[in-house]
Amino acid sequence: MTRTVYVNGEYLPENEAKISIFDRGFLMADGVYEVTSVLDGKLIDFAGHAKRLERSLNELDMASPISMDDLLEVHRELVRVNEINEGMVYLQVTRGAPDDRDFAFPDPEVTPSSIVLFTQNKPGLADAPAAKKGFKVISIEDIRWGRRDIKTVQLLYPSMGKMMAKKAGVDDAWMVEDGKVTEGTSNNAYIVKDGTIITRHLGNEILAGITRNAVLRFAKEAQMKVEERSFTIAEAQDADEAFVTSASTFVMPVVEIDGAQIGTGAPGPVAGRLREIYLEESRKAGI
Ligand code: PMP
Repeated sequence: MTRTVYVNGEYLPENEAKISIFDRGFLMADGVYEVTSVLDGKLIDFAGHAKRLERSLNELDMASPISMDDLLEVHRELVRVNEINEGMVYLQVTRGAPDDRDFAFPDPEVTPSSIVLFTQNKPGLADAPAAKKGFKVISIEDIRWGRRDIKTVQLLYPSMGKMMAKKAGVDDAWMVEDGKVTEGTSNNAYIVKDGTIITRHLGNEILAGITRNAVLRFAKEAQMKVEERSFTIAEAQDADEAFVTSASTFVMPVVEIDGAQIGTGAPGPVAGRLREIYLEESRKAGI
């Protein structure tokens, strides 16, 4: 099926959508993005994603090409016309297309930001078989830039990390800086020890996951103990459980790190419970 996508104010068939070769997203990775999941045809935590988008734009001094109310309408319209029941909506805003390549930012009065949205249809997303088996991960050095709290489209190193994982025969990689785990290539990382959920504190070193925020809130509401602090790979290998969170994997158990089995080597009860709560509450609050 040909998707309908949204480009700079227009709904178009995907094969008719065009972006300039001078777009700074293309030339400079000068852009930010969001991925919002869809369950039962409804957007999950749209408000959280819209708020983080505004923050990313602000941090980069980039103008928003659309109001957040209109953005919600575009998301909903794409979900509707593309008949998405389970899947994702991808959104990207870049600093637009000046008439030539230049390192300096263009004048926003002359060069408006570009905006692109498209849907990804993923039937069975919530019932992913991987959640029953759990992910195996390797650790790799975190050599990304220092503003990982901004959700930019500079995803080359995370892509390379996924390829390193693939080559090692595992599912993903956890990145390590100064001996401490920062996050997964496209998710936040957690361990569970003696009933306490441990995940790195927020800062410039990691992305403030929208799923992380919701999961920590649900964990606290369920009287689970949460500690926001960094941890090492050795501590993770010695944990009772591990898991990752993201908008597209929700809560995904991790059962092996650098060849060492975590706990029993099967998805743990805390990750399982959090996945259940997250899916249930998110479905209820979907819009
Ligand atoms: N960290 C990184 C580096 C990511 O790319 C992502 C997902 N885009 C996350 C964390 C998780 O964020 P969210 O829960 O908002 O999907």
